[in-house]
Amino acid sequence: MSALIDNLLWYSIVSNFWQNCLSRIGEGVDSAIEAVRRSLRASQLVAFTGAGISAESQVPTFRGADGLWRNYSPESLATAEAFTSDPHLVWEWYDWLRGLIHEAQPNPGHLALTELQRRNPKGFTLVTQNIDGLHERAGSHDVVKLHGDIWRLRCTACGREELNEQVPMDHLPPLCRCGGIQRPAIVWFGEMLPEEEWERAVDAARQANVFIAVGTSALVYPAAGLVKVARQSGALVVIVNPDPTPADDLAKWILRGPAGEILPRLL
Ligand code: NAD
Repeated sequence: MSALIDNLLWYSIVSNFWQNCLSRIGEGVDSAIEAVRRSLRASQLVAFTGAGISAESQVPTFRGADGLWRNYSPESLATAEAFTSDPHLVWEWYDWLRGLIHEAQPNPGHLALTELQRRNPKGFTLVTQNIDGLHERAGSHDVVKLHGDIWRLRCTACGREELNEQVPMDHLPPLCRCGGIQRPAIVWFGEMLPEEEWERAVDAARQANVFIAVGTSALVYPAAGLVKVARQSGALVVIVNPDPTPADDLAKWILRGPAGEILPRLL
């Protein structure tokens, strides 16, 4: 029995090795980049981005050590429960994060995706888990924002939403004109995704010939499930990330390295 398990394990390691074409910067990356570059001429292309694409703009990811703030993990603050128990603390953190994002500039990774959209406006969909607005500041448009927008506030009493770009905010927690406490209009852990955005993302993943996942740990569901939807619908999956992710097994090409270096080379 244990020999059978060993054989199965070995078979899975070998088949995954051949299935994925793994490339690190400096290790035969040129041929991998060229192959992916050719595939990006596909008619239907989806780019699916996570916090990693903004890391080179100095916006911390949630899962790196740099994501910590006053020893709180983002996962413990980005929840409705944390907000209900201490809205002031949660807003202090978001105020800090808004300050960092305000100072940040889009990097070559964001700009490369803008260029891909410019070249194929009808066949390119950009789906992001990011809340920072850097894709739009890089010139991308019609971005499918699965997790909302840090610059929009929603009233917890009347539900009214508004744009607020004040940095730093002059009153924490901010209040709606109805007197209710406002929260960031973003999706916290455990909350539902906006229905329309999710449907657009699933439709695009189903129709994609090529699906390129950039800078995402592929751990946050349901968003991370889009990689599988695309793969099962026949898309060629490409991953751009310096580190391994649980979605790597679904990929045809894995380009290991920072998005700001790899994406411009795909143009
Ligand atoms: P994550 O923090 O879970 O993972 C980040 C991933 O990016 C990791 O896999 C890491 O290896 C990779 N990475 C780091 N530097 C990179 C680089 N230079 N180039 C490419 N990849 C790099 O991020 P996630 O998967 O997006 O999930 C976290 C959730 O947190 C999301 O829902 C998102 O809304 C939110 N978030 C957003 C921002 C933002 O808007 N900038 C920042 C932090 C977290």
